[in-house]
Amino acid sequence: MSSSVISNGANLAKYMDLPQNGKVIAEYIWIDGTNGIRSKGRTLPKKPTSVDDLPEWNFDGSSTDQAPGHDSDVYLRPVAMYADPFRRGDNVIVLAECWNNDGTPNKKNHRYAANKLFEAHSDAEIWFGIEQEYTLFDEFGNVYGWPKGGFPGPQGPYYCGVGTGKVYARDVVEAHYRACLYAGINTSGINAEVMPSQWEFQVGPNLGISMGDQLWVARYLLERVAEDFGVKVSFHPKPLLGDWNGAGCHTNVSTKAMRVEGGMKYIEEAIEKLSKRHKEHISVYGEDNDKRLTGRHETASIAQFSYGVANRGASVRIPRSVNKDGYGYFEDRRPASNIDPYLVTGIMVETVCGSIPGVDMVAEASRE
Ligand code: ADP
Ligand code: MN
Ligand code: MN
Ligand code: MN
Repeated sequence: MSSSVISNGANLAKYMDLPQNGKVIAEYIWIDGTNGIRSKGRTLPKKPTSVDDLPEWNFDGSSTDQAPGHDSDVYLRPVAMYADPFRRGDNVIVLAECWNNDGTPNKKNHRYAANKLFEAHSDAEIWFGIEQEYTLFDEFGNVYGWPKGGFPGPQGPYYCGVGTGKVYARDVVEAHYRACLYAGINTSGINAEVMPSQWEFQVGPNLGISMGDQLWVARYLLERVAEDFGVKVSFHPKPLLGDWNGAGCHTNVSTKAMRVEGGMKYIEEAIEKLSKRHKEHISVYGEDNDKRLTGRHETASIAQFSYGVANRGASVRIPRSVNKDGYGYFEDRRPASNIDPYLVTGIMVETVCGSIPGVDMVAEASRE
């Protein structure tokens, strides 16, 4: 294989099968200074049974755009643990929050602020389901499987496509789906998207903070699976200009009150509140989202809030079935594929359930 990744499954398997002498490997993962994912592994003396068994750790934040060189230690505080589909056995993946030496949350640790909101509003039992769209590229930077120096036929046959020429890199998607289920991610489905080599997976419904946790881990698993195939993952919201769909992170939302008979009243109230904070929400809904939210390609204009039943050209959509039942959830179609889900779920609970002292998700997004 000519990619930078060596992947010789048969050779590697010999070593992966070796017993570990009772030791467990924990791969700590965290969000870096550019909304990317980093990870490093460490040996634990025995199988951890809960997050409390996992030690705090640290890394060199000056190498990840997270700290200055003269004060470079950033601390990793474990917050969630998952089965490791790559190493298997008792080995685990550990999601960690980043903390500075002076006891403040690191600039890209938006989980801490979002979690305060979820704790304050735990009575609302807010659920999220996020539809993560992404695009696959080959190692040379071409959209995966597209003709060299040219384009495939126009969009039409690719969404949920079946058959050669209509679907690209299904192996990556299939492997990622299994890896997520093995790890314990609440993946609800996958589908091929409108642009060839663009795909989607959905995570949810998930309660509060676990939405952001599981979406980040699912992204990590996708990056790792794609390594094995020498494929690059892009979370850019408009990876190709022109008549090609962009990529989003539609965010589906419900509170306990919205999910039972009479819930439509609360869905409408939430949409009314969202309409008054459109600019604020857009400010945390991802970079380069203006290239995607053009009013074309199943999006609404970035300039104006809109909503509608079954309307995929609106900012917020009430699914047809929800409108018929009179209760359920709504879909915010504005978030871009490159969001930090902690910012998006955080501002959602702030707007729908109310702000709390000391937390402001718009300011949080640009905190240094
Ligand atoms: P679309 O029709 O927009 O493509 P999908 O089927 O891709 O929708 O995604 C719908 C998402 O909504 C899924 O992640 C699902 O788990 C989530 N969802 C379903 N019910 C609820 C609910 N009551 N609250 C929040 N999210 C929900
Ligand atoms: Mn979808
Ligand atoms: Mn989609
Ligand atoms: Mn959707």
